[in-house]
This record gives sequence, C-alpha cells and structure tokens, in this order.
Amino acid sequence: MRAFADKKDKGRKPALFLDRDGVLIRDREGFYLKKLEEVRVYPTAVEGLKKISGLGYRLIVLTNQSAIARGYISLSESVGINKFIAAYFRKRGVKISGIYFCPHLPDSGCSCRKPSTGLVKEALKDFRTDLKRSFMAGDKQSDMKLAAAAGLNSVFVLTGQARKQMKKYNIKADFRIKDLRGLKRALKNL
Ligand SMILES: [Mg+2]
Ligand SMILES: [Zn+2]
Repeated sequence: MRAFADKKDKGRKPALFLDRDGVLIRDREGFYLKKLEEVRVYPTAVEGLKKISGLGYRLIVLTNQSAIARGYISLSESVGINKFIAAYFRKRGVKISGIYFCPHLPDSGCSCRKPSTGLVKEALKDFRTDLKRSFMAGDKQSDMKLAAAAGLNSVFVLTGQARKQMKKYNIKADFRIKDLRGLKRALKNL
C-alpha cells in the first residue's frame, strides 16, 4: 500500500529503495513501533542521504508493517508515522518521494511483504525508474532477497537488526556499509 507518493516528481531516474526500520530509524528484534513519540531517526541516515543528494537518485521507502495486521496500530496511524518520517527528513534537506508498506502478517501469503516484490512494483507504477542503476538498502536478509528478486543492486546496512540477521543467515549483498554515511561510496562503485 502507498502511504504517499509525490506525483510531481517526474522524469526517469534511478531509485534508491530504502528499508525504514533499522535503516532510517532505530529498530530492534520484536519491537513494534506504535506511536510517533517512539520514532528515533538515525542521525547517520540524515547525514548519509544528504551526501548523495546530488547524485540524482529518487528515494523511495519500502517497509513491512505487520504491526497493522497484528492490531498494534491502525492503518491511518501507520500512514501518519510514515508521513512524519518523510517530513522529518524533508526539514533536514532530504527528499523522500514515496513510502510504500505491507500491512499484512508474515504468513498471509500476500505479494507485498518483502522479500516479495509487490512494493517495488507498486512504486514502479508511480515513478519512471532506471532499474539497472537502482539500489535496495536494508538491514535484513529479506531486503537483500527482495533486491535479488527485483534485479536491484543490494546494500546491506549494518544498523538495526543487521548483526542478528548475520548470525541467522548467510547474507549476500553487493555492498556492505556500516551505516548510511557509507552509501555514497557504494553508489559510486556501481
Ligand atoms: Mg529493517
Ligand atoms: Zn503484504
């Protein structure tokens, strides 16, 4: 589902698809964000995204939010939090053009929960995208699998749940970065 998309942002560009929890904002295993007051944006995310602002990437957030189906948070509250996060970045000079989320449970069989590619497809309907030069950055195996399935370059970000994920899975990614401040170098190495 779409939280919002800036339809005025036209033109064909590569996309930087970003996971939200654990990449833009703080996250830990078993934690479900329920309130705006619980949002903690990583300063390194703001800094890292500012550094790439001249490179011509369109920033699009793709996020699994099973908290909605679990009944921890309503759909409109979740959309509100997503818009709040976008506004937070915008005030600091970082433009996020769209946020898409999966509201379903992990075992729902839906086509939008990462690593399924539904959210990428939804975003591609709204934005003309140079897929070959596009990236997916995330802190989980599911983000890297989505990247592989959608034909995107993958960036594994070592914030959020990354270290726990590395213990569980053999993570395959094109690039690994400590936090989003390392994005610029990864993007330039494409
Ligand atoms: Mg995450
Ligand atoms: Zn879904």
